[in-house]
Amino acid sequence: MTKKQLRKETISVMIVKTIIFDIDNTLYSYDDAHKAAFARLLEYAQRELGLSAEEFQTLHRQANETLKQRMGSVAAIHNRLIRYQNLLEKLGKPIRHALAMNDLYWNTLLDAARPSPGAAETLTELKRRGYRIGVGTDMTARLQFVKLERLSLLQCVDFLVSSEEACAEKPDPELFRLCVEKAGVSPEECLFVGDNLRKDVLGATACGLQSLWFRPGGGEAEPGVGQIRALPELLEVLA
Ligand SMILES: [Mg+2]
Repeated sequence: MTKKQLRKETISVMIVKTIIFDIDNTLYSYDDAHKAAFARLLEYAQRELGLSAEEFQTLHRQANETLKQRMGSVAAIHNRLIRYQNLLEKLGKPIRHALAMNDLYWNTLLDAARPSPGAAETLTELKRRGYRIGVGTDMTARLQFVKLERLSLLQCVDFLVSSEEACAEKPDPELFRLCVEKAGVSPEECLFVGDNLRKDVLGATACGLQSLWFRPGGGEAEPGVGQIRALPELLEVLA
């Protein structure tokens, strides 16, 4: 059996009408862009706050944990302004730095973000074939709009569901329910594509959507889960 057959057998290709994408680490490499942005943040912390890289990383982790415990699984957990503000408050440093750190982080990340190979071509061709394109993402809405715009992908997207709008993060069924509602088709006519097995793939499947696991690095097969290593493979899978 070829790889292509394996992928095709895990989804019912004929009934797919809408394809819904995760953004981070799917439409672009968040990990690479984050690395560049976090490096700039470490420089700032060293220069302006007198913190070593290790001290800043520890404080950053602690602020993240505190907020997770307080807020739970909501979009605001990704709000770096709140994270840096809490870090500075705990440290007894002026909170004015939070705004500068937030802008430094996001501006660097957005400058460093590059679309995943073939993303624009794939989305454009899928639209040409008549599929509707959606986005289902854990994050506040504005930043995800800006990311899509900077990646030159926003014009391909018909609808977007953020965890800010859904008031729930993947794999919460509410986010997927809202995706299906906006798609205007039945759950099984939606194909969800994302890099996170638990949140994107199993989350979507549990809500009756079809799904594919985007795994650019490859890896062991997961029973019953279709995988693609590059976005343009979607064009073959749905051919
Ligand atoms: Mg992701």
